[in-house]
Amino acid sequence: MSKRKILLHACCAPCAAPCCEKLLKENFDLTLFFSNSNISPFSEYEKRRNELERLAKLMGVPLEIDSYEHEDWLRAVAGLENEFEKGPRCTECFKHNLRRASEKAESLGIESFSTTLTISPHKDSTVIFKAASSYPCFIPFDFKKNNGFARSIELSRQFGLYRQGYCGCEFSNSQQAFNKKN
Ligand code: SF4
Repeated sequence: MSKRKILLHACCAPCAAPCCEKLLKENFDLTLFFSNSNISPFSEYEKRRNELERLAKLMGVPLEIDSYEHEDWLRAVAGLENEFEKGPRCTECFKHNLRRASEKAESLGIESFSTTLTISPHKDSTVIFKAASSYPCFIPFDFKKNNGFARSIELSRQFGLYRQGYCGCEFSNSQQAFNKKN
């Protein structure tokens, strides 16, 4: 029987590692997709992209890389810059990246897609599923189930993966710095 193809939108290597492990065990024909124009500054984007390239090689999984369109992403979240993490800016951010993943899956002839975003304990999986609800080919994996995040920490240690200290955008970065000071 042929394997079911899936494109997995990956936010970063530490989150991708346990998701890849699970999907490979479940016999999916997996392709990773790095599409994260939300990440700022560009040096941080490059750091996360390079780390995912390293992980993809280690796990023997093909990787597709999207172009970096931060100005487009800023337009998608315009007016929501001062919202707190987990608020409406994040919903628009999920929609932006999931739309890119859906379009990429279609262009590659891959019948389904999903995202590693649900592994984070800081992200509500139901909000991510809702953001993807207009895509019938989206598979709603809730990767934080069965200690997914703990496994992410274990695999990060095993592979020596870089773990970032903030979600991704400039607004989450400045909020994190503010929280540390106060
Ligand atoms: S905090 Fe994270 S999820 Fe929310 S808008 Fe910024 S990068 Fe996107």
